[in-house]
Amino acid sequence: MMKQRIEELKDLINKYNYLYYVEENPSVSDFEYDKLFAELKELENLFPQYKTPDSPTQRVGAISEKFDSYKHKYRLYSLDNTYTYEDIEKWYEKLTAEYGNEVELVSELKIDGLAIALSYENGVFVRGVTRGDGVQGEDITANLKTIKAIPLKLFQNVDIEVRGEIFMPKTSFEKLNEESLKNGEKVFANPRNAASGSIRQLDSRITAKRDLSMFCYTAIIEKSDKKPQTHYDTLMYLKELGFKVNPNIKVCKNAQEVIDYCKYWDTERSKLNYATDGVVVKVNQLNIQEDLGFTARAPKWATAFKFPPEEASTKLLDIEYGVGKTGAVTPVAILTPVQLAGSTVSRASLHNFDEIKRLDVRIGDTVLIMKAAEIIPKVITVLNDEQHNTRPEFQPPAECPSCHCPLYTRAKEVGLYCENPRCPEKVRAQLEYWVSKDAMDIDNLGPSVIAQLYDLNLVRNFADFYKLTIDDLLKLEATKEKSANNIYEGIQKSKNRSLARFINALSIKNVGKENAAVLADEYGSIEALMDASIESLENVKGIANKMATDIYTYFRCEENVAIIKELFALGVVPEHTSVVKSGKLENLTFVLTGTLSSMTRPEAEEKIKSQGGRTSSSVTSKTSYVVAGEKAGSKFDKAQKLGVIILTEEQFITLLEKGIENEEK
Ligand code: NAD
Repeated sequence: MMKQRIEELKDLINKYNYLYYVEENPSVSDFEYDKLFAELKELENLFPQYKTPDSPTQRVGAISEKFDSYKHKYRLYSLDNTYTYEDIEKWYEKLTAEYGNEVELVSELKIDGLAIALSYENGVFVRGVTRGDGVQGEDITANLKTIKAIPLKLFQNVDIEVRGEIFMPKTSFEKLNEESLKNGEKVFANPRNAASGSIRQLDSRITAKRDLSMFCYTAIIEKSDKKPQTHYDTLMYLKELGFKVNPNIKVCKNAQEVIDYCKYWDTERSKLNYATDGVVVKVNQLNIQEDLGFTARAPKWATAFKFPPEEASTKLLDIEYGVGKTGAVTPVAILTPVQLAGSTVSRASLHNFDEIKRLDVRIGDTVLIMKAAEIIPKVITVLNDEQHNTRPEFQPPAECPSCHCPLYTRAKEVGLYCENPRCPEKVRAQLEYWVSKDAMDIDNLGPSVIAQLYDLNLVRNFADFYKLTIDDLLKLEATKEKSANNIYEGIQKSKNRSLARFINALSIKNVGKENAAVLADEYGSIEALMDASIESLENVKGIANKMATDIYTYFRCEENVAIIKELFALGVVPEHTSVVKSGKLENLTFVLTGTLSSMTRPEAEEKIKSQGGRTSSSVTSKTSYVVAGEKAGSKFDKAQKLGVIILTEEQFITLLEKGIENEEK
């Protein structure tokens, strides 16, 4: 029975290794792979009689035949790994039991790329080889020479073998995938696969075009005047020789310091422009390292703590559809519930129908889903599976899931649309948008309350919100006097929101909050906007032709006009304070990222605009400032990369205040 399970695990893991290392096309998530690997290791410990030399626990990686193979002078190993802090503590206890409290540890980020060994003779780069199966790797010297982070000549004439990790920066990975998508080429599941695929190109010119880099993390020094005594000193020496070494290294005195380091980087790593999947902890003293030695697969003087998975594989049970405020029908993946980055996930985004076609997702497939720090989980790829081709290809729906009207495509737009103005789901989405933070900003009116108001026939358009009485609100499920009052008050308070918010809240096709602000400034009142001709709209800076037609058409619909008039009659009168055109922030473009503690994002945007500044959602070289609040995301990295000035919240507030002071003078 146990023997059978061991054989089964060996076969499975060997198959996964091949797909991962050779085909670059993983068929399960790393977390799942690690779970199977740990099970095999444990069973082999319990039943050593079934442990064979060909077991994956006794070997490293795999080797392909794409390049000339090269036998390593010194073996390359993998790392033992764990997902728990408890194991780190146990590992440290074992070390101190043997070597006392003098044992020092070095914590480093575990870069999620691929391992390479670089040989230098007399300070000159002579050969670069992939780890392969640890004994033999692929000679990819020509490709490695195209990577600028790899020095071709060192600052000293030493003989040395340096090991490190080749990686692709996250921003370059995204750009590569965007381009591949446009050209109908292979899209990589993650930066690691992209790095591996790029470095293992038969044509070096392709590798040269990919933005690859390398962090070095260890070395075997053969001929040099220096003989470092610790791992930390080795890293410093590598820097001295001209190698790129990751700056986030920490010498730790005990397990707790390592755990603190792991906790810190588990949240902070999203700000880095390279992928990391854990922390590598190594004994600092090289004499202790030597004494400890290696198992068949990994050094005993190091261990890897892996961050909780941000990727998971699970089964696609069904595809459901949602209807958005513009009528766009979006597919949602319904999944067998799975643990991902600390929560249970059973739904994930599939973006649009083109994306389903590109991924060739079929119901019943096993898919890889991903959750990056701030975004909802999404399906990134279909995992390799023999049954895939036997499953029926996905067919987009012909009718709206909500109102059953036929769906249409729109010129120059992706996706399918429901054009029925009374489609219940579309109307509910518009009502939800009306109350949202960027629009009329009404508190206590969540989707479930709106759904009830809709079902009770109390709210079917924007004006209906303002006709609600407390008695109406008391008809809602679980709504007592206090919450009914709160909802009522919230609605009344929204009556004099800015014109820009009002225009945005109308859900006019293609008009978002930024365009709404431009229109508010240009026309100054809703009446003027309603009267604007197509020509006039087309002449507004920033308003594209297509958008001008959409705006014009919106206000030619009698029903829309009637609702706006009714809103006026109910006292909903948007106010427009014209933008200070000569404000202190004139001609400056701001991008906001992360959470600000003293104001909401819409408030910050309004403040910028009120002083003549502009806001944008993406960082480019033209961005003047990036304002970084807490948990700043990839925009922060991009700003750093492009050298755009990054302001803290405090600096931003000072800038705003300085602007106001100057204005008053
Ligand atoms: P690994 O990636 O877990 O760890 C060892 C590697 O870490 C080293 O070879 C080195 O390249 C790298 N590394 C990064 N930063 C480092 C640093 N600072 N110091 C030292 N090393 C550093 O091990 P592996 O043997 O390359 O791969 C095994 C792992 O790969 C598995 O645990 C699994 O997560 C994944 N895998 C997944 C599949 C799959 O099908 N999903 C299949 C095979 C392997």
